[in-house]
Formats: sequence, C-alpha cells, structure tokens
Amino acid sequence: MKIVAFSDTHGFRPWHKIPEGDVLIFAGDMTMHGSLDEVVKFNELLGSLPHPCKLVIAGNHDTCFETRLNDSRARLTNAVYLQDETIMIQGVKFYGSPWQPVFRNMAFNLPRKSLRAQWERIPPETDILITHTPPYGYNDRTLFGSRVGCRELLEAVEHIQPALHIFGHIHEAFGQSANGRTVFANVSVCNLLYIPMRRPLVFEVPFEGITKR
Ligand SMILES: [Zn+2]
Repeated sequence: MKIVAFSDTHGFRPWHKIPEGDVLIFAGDMTMHGSLDEVVKFNELLGSLPHPCKLVIAGNHDTCFETRLNDSRARLTNAVYLQDETIMIQGVKFYGSPWQPVFRNMAFNLPRKSLRAQWERIPPETDILITHTPPYGYNDRTLFGSRVGCRELLEAVEHIQPALHIFGHIHEAFGQSANGRTVFANVSVCNLLYIPMRRPLVFEVPFEGITKR
C-alpha cells in the first residue's frame, strides 16, 4: 500500500505535485482561519486528486470542525474525516485524532490530564496513527530549539507501537525519524512563513522488518 501524507496547507495549494498513491492522508490545518469556506476550497483540492482513499483530520486552525462539526463534515465530501475514529483499508487500521496540548486560544486544545484520557481511546491494534500534534521527542523541535510535542501522546505511541505515525503542526520540524518500531513523520507542507513549499512524503507499508503483532 502506497501512502502519501501531507498537512498544514493553510488554504494554499502545495507548490509540488502531490504524488499518486493508494491512500492520501492529511494531518490537519487545511485552513488559516477555520472557516467553512476554506473547508470548501480544501475539498476542491482533494477532488482534483486521483487517490482512491483520502483521510483527513483537523488541526488547531480548523476551528469550524470544533464549533460546527456537522456543517464542516458535510463540506468535506471528497474525503473521510476522522475525529477519534478508526477506518480499516485493505486490512490496515488507521486512527485519526485532532487534539493537542494547549496552544494559544485555538481549536482542539486539551489540558494534559484530558489528553491522556483521549489517547487511551486509540485502539492498541492501530497500524497507522494520524494526529495533528507530534509526540514529544520526534520532529517536534521549534525554531527556538524547544521540543513541544505531546508527552502523553509519546507514552501512548510507545505502548501501541503503530508502524507509522503521521502528524504536522510544528512546521519547522518537517521530516521523519524512527525508533525501530515506529516511523514518525512530520508532513507540514507549509514552512514557518506559511509558504507551501515542501513535498508530501510517501511511504510503502508494511515496512520491511517492522511487524505489528
Ligand atoms: Zn499549521
């Protein structure tokens, strides 16, 4: 299965062509201002892409998914929207969730105690995890050098050991890393200046040498 992943387009069309694949994953922040009109625009972008399966989660900018969930979902006709939900595609289990540690006064903020409870909902058999926030310690370093990923999410990921963890949010930490069990990928298309200049990342799963169970 070929997976193409990107996030943080913030209303812009990525400069680079989005590679073809079986499953397209978008890990949050399709909008800049969280409006329904921006969701419509993003949906049009998705509609122009050939991937047979498209999975989308929201990010901290996508306020309308927190305040008007049904209206927002209704506008995302070209993808499956995941909010603390699992979808199985060709035997591979994907789970998507938009929550993150409190970040300014934006959407899907949770205090740490609530985050732990939220991540405990991730099914242990999850193969591919999609969140907006990075876990602590993996592609979560800001320009100023501090790591701002979610510690509670790291605990959950170390326990669940998904083959692949896709996220965005910290634009400047774009790229991938691994710990021997899980491949971590920050797929932010926009850089710190909101210029959509990065290429989406492509993964072939299952990864050689990594078995889930
Ligand atoms: Zn962003």
